[in-house]
Amino acid sequence: MSETQAPAPTSKLTPGLKGIKTIEDFDLKEKRVFIRVDFNVPQDKNGAITDDTRIRAAIPTIKYAMEKGAKIVLASHLGRPESRDDKQYSMEPVAARLGEILKADVMLIDDPTSDAPKGLLPGLRPNQLIMLENLRYEKGETKNSREFALQMAAYTDIYINDAFGASHRAHASIEALPQVVSNKGIGFLIKKEIEMLDVLLHEPKTPYMVILGGAKVSDKIPVIEAMIDKVDQFFVGGAMAYTFLQANNVAVGNSRVEKDKVSFAKEMIKRIEARGKKILLPIDHVIANDFLAPSKIETTNDATIPAGMMGLDIGPKTRELYRKELQKAKTVFWNGPMGVFERPEFAKGSFGVAETLSQLTEALTIVGGGDSAAAAEASGYAGQMSHISTGGGASLEYLQGDKLPGLEVLRNLRPSVQPTL
Ligand code: AMP
Repeated sequence: MSETQAPAPTSKLTPGLKGIKTIEDFDLKEKRVFIRVDFNVPQDKNGAITDDTRIRAAIPTIKYAMEKGAKIVLASHLGRPESRDDKQYSMEPVAARLGEILKADVMLIDDPTSDAPKGLLPGLRPNQLIMLENLRYEKGETKNSREFALQMAAYTDIYINDAFGASHRAHASIEALPQVVSNKGIGFLIKKEIEMLDVLLHEPKTPYMVILGGAKVSDKIPVIEAMIDKVDQFFVGGAMAYTFLQANNVAVGNSRVEKDKVSFAKEMIKRIEARGKKILLPIDHVIANDFLAPSKIETTNDATIPAGMMGLDIGPKTRELYRKELQKAKTVFWNGPMGVFERPEFAKGSFGVAETLSQLTEALTIVGGGDSAAAAEASGYAGQMSHISTGGGASLEYLQGDKLPGLEVLRNLRPSVQPTL
C-alpha cells in the first residue's frame, strides 16, 4: 500500500481490530477473493463429518462474497497429514458438505500450486466456487513459505482471513500470503470472535467469573496470569484442580497432578486472595479406581481423595456451589471441562456448568473453544451461550495478550501521509 493511501478504518468498539479492514470494505465484484477458512472439522473412522459447526460458522462470509459477485477460492487445512498420500485428510467430504449447505457447486482443486485456479476462476458461474485441497498437503504451508504464498497470490486479488481457529499459527495461508497481497482483511467470523474476546479483555461487566478446567495447569498458566487483575472469581475443575488441591495440602490419591506446577498453584492462590478475590476449588469429587476401565466409581464426602482412587469429575456439592456462585455473574468465560466429560459417568460437572451458563440470560457467557465447546455442545445447552469460540488455542492466546500472526499481518496502523505539493 502506498504512503498516500488512507489508513484502514478502525473499529471504535474493538481495539483488537484497529487498522484491520473487513470484507465489507472491498468491492468484490468480479474480483478473485481468496478466503482462508477453518474447515478443520472432526471426522469419524470412515471420514464422515461428525460436527460441521466450523463449516457453518464461515457461511455468512462466503454467502456475502457470493452475493457481491466475487470469484471465490476457499482454502483450509484438515488434520495433520504427513503427505498427499494421507487420503483420509482430503477436503472432499468438506467440499461435499459445503455444496449441500450453500446449494452450490464446490470444485475441489488438487494442486494449489498449479495453473488450475487461475484458469478456472474467470469462468466461474455465480453458484460455483473453488476449494483448494488440504493446504497441509503442501510442505510450504506449515513452513510459512513465501514461495508457496506467491503461488497462491498469483490467483488472489483480495485476501480474506476468516479462520479464527488457525490465526495463532504463522503458516503460509495465514501469514506469508497476506504479506504479499495488498488488499486484505477479515471475514465476519473473526470479526465476531475478536469483538467478543475484546469485551473480556477491555470491558467485562462485573462480577466477571472465569471457569478453568481441562487436563493441564501448564496450558492455562499464561491466561490465569493475564486475567488475574480483571477477574473477580475463578472456578477450577478438571484434572488441573488436583494440582491446586495438592498446593493446599489436600490428599488427591492417584489423581493427575503436575508436580512441577504445585508451587505455581500455591502462589496463584495467594496472589488471587491477596487481591481480595476468590478462587474456588472442588469440595467433593466423582472418583474411580481407573481412568480407562473404571470398575469402582464413587462420590467423595469432601475434598480428600483416598489412596488408589483418582478424581475424574467434580462432585454434586461442588456442582451446587459453582451453580450458586455463577448465578451472580455478569460476565463468564469458560475454558476446559470439569471432568472426563466424554464418558457419561464423569460428565455431570461439565454439563452442570453448561446448564448454569444457559440460565444466565442477563450475563455475557463465552465458551473458549476446543474441549469446552465440545462439552457445551454435548450438554445440549450450546445454543444458549452468548458465544462459543471456534478456536480453542487462538482464543486462549488472544486472551493472554499474545499477538495472533493472522491478525497482525492484516493490520495497517500507519497514519495517512498527505502528499506534499
Ligand atoms: P484440555 O484440552 O486441557 O481442555 O483438556 C481436556 C481433556 O481433559 C478432556 O479430554 C477431559 O477428558 C480431560 N479431563 C478433564 N478432567 C480430567 C480429570 N479429572 N482427569 C483426567 N483428565 C481429565
